[in-house]
Amino acid sequence: TTIPRIVILGAGYAGMMTTKRLIQQFAPEEVEITLVNKHNYHYQTTWLHEVAAGTIDVNRSRIMISDVINTRRVNFVQDTVKKIHTENKQVELENSTLDYDYLVIGLGFEKATFGIPGMEHAFTIQTVDKSRMIRDHIEYQFSRYKTEENPSDDMLTIIVGGAGFTGIEFVGELAERVPLLCKKYDIPRHRAKIINIEAAPSILPGFDEDLLEYAKESLTRRGVEIRTSTMIKEVKEDSIIVGDDKEEIKAGTFVWTGGVQANSIVGEAGFEITKGRVNVDPMLRAPGYDDVFILGDCAWVTNKETGRPYPATAQIAIQEADVCAHNIRTLIFGGTLQEFVYDNKGTVASLGGSEAMGTVFDGQKLYGMQAKVMKHVIDDRYLFMVGGPTFVLKKGKFRPF
Ligand code: FAD
Repeated sequence: TTIPRIVILGAGYAGMMTTKRLIQQFAPEEVEITLVNKHNYHYQTTWLHEVAAGTIDVNRSRIMISDVINTRRVNFVQDTVKKIHTENKQVELENSTLDYDYLVIGLGFEKATFGIPGMEHAFTIQTVDKSRMIRDHIEYQFSRYKTEENPSDDMLTIIVGGAGFTGIEFVGELAERVPLLCKKYDIPRHRAKIINIEAAPSILPGFDEDLLEYAKESLTRRGVEIRTSTMIKEVKEDSIIVGDDKEEIKAGTFVWTGGVQANSIVGEAGFEITKGRVNVDPMLRAPGYDDVFILGDCAWVTNKETGRPYPATAQIAIQEADVCAHNIRTLIFGGTLQEFVYDNKGTVASLGGSEAMGTVFDGQKLYGMQAKVMKHVIDDRYLFMVGGPTFVLKKGKFRPF
């Protein structure tokens, strides 16, 4: 007799936590667990804006998978997923093919461009490698400025498209990084610009007005220009076109954070896509499939109280793992399937340096250092869940020195 084969695609927040929970839910002889990921490391997507700005070292943001996943229990395959064939329950990887009885998809997001022309010129904060490229590109602009005969200040302009969580956290880091680069390359600070452009009338939808005021004041004071109600019409190699009057803003760097959607592998597999993601059932399964779970940024889960989908966040991806692992066990051994219920622990946005703002679970608002401390608590709590106390000491935001 063969034992059920569970295959997990992607070792992000959703995939890593599901793997951990499955190890807890099953005895070794009960199931075969396989985890597939492009790299041999797991990275903290929520820290990538810091990697992209160059405010933390790349290695702080990643963890070797074999250091935190028991490879005697889990068959780890480092490979790239190419295609999912639900009709014969197979996953095609670059170098091999896997058969599954239960599939968990946690392949994360990719950029949504909303049909804006020229978006191929935009950088995105999506993976460790892409974030590192942004860091290097920005620094390259500064060093180029010093070597060109008639350098234009435009080279030093960094435009960030989108004032959602990622865009705002990123400009916050840039506000810290740009002064250091100016110093390093002997360039007066006022020559380098950081511009955040948002189509909606406000930054960070969903936050209270006084938190937003705090964020705007902190960012503007540290040299970020925020332009809301400004639609990006086109992206060119060294400029962007905004608004109905087609204003051109020249820049050496353009980073797009304005939209994400499910990894395109999900749509290509034939799962129905609604507004860029799969609207999963309350048990987190793809509509019409008993054996395929879709988690994290690839999925939408509907909030029953409001009838609207929950935003895709790391917090949700982590919580989904519990329900997914429980439901796979239920499908194999019987019992009651669990529905996903979101436990909102609050949201804190970092604004760079010692600045942050947000709310905690009881709705209390936090500003500045207090919010920053909470942000570190959130980050370290996750590290603890993934790797235990050793990892908090090694990679955590609170360090004993
Ligand atoms: P991911 O964590 O992105 O993981 C996807 C995994 O799949 C990766 O390991 C990737 O390598 C792998 N993969 C992708 N394609 C393939 C392939 N073809 N083959 C094999 N492997 C593949 N959320 C919060 O809750 N709080 C925050 O403070 C916060 N800050 C953020 C800051 C930034 C800069 C960004 C970009 C996002 C932030 N988010 C935050 C959102 C959060 O990061 C995402 O919601 C979360 O990462 C989703 O988790 P996931 O497991 O679905 O995907």
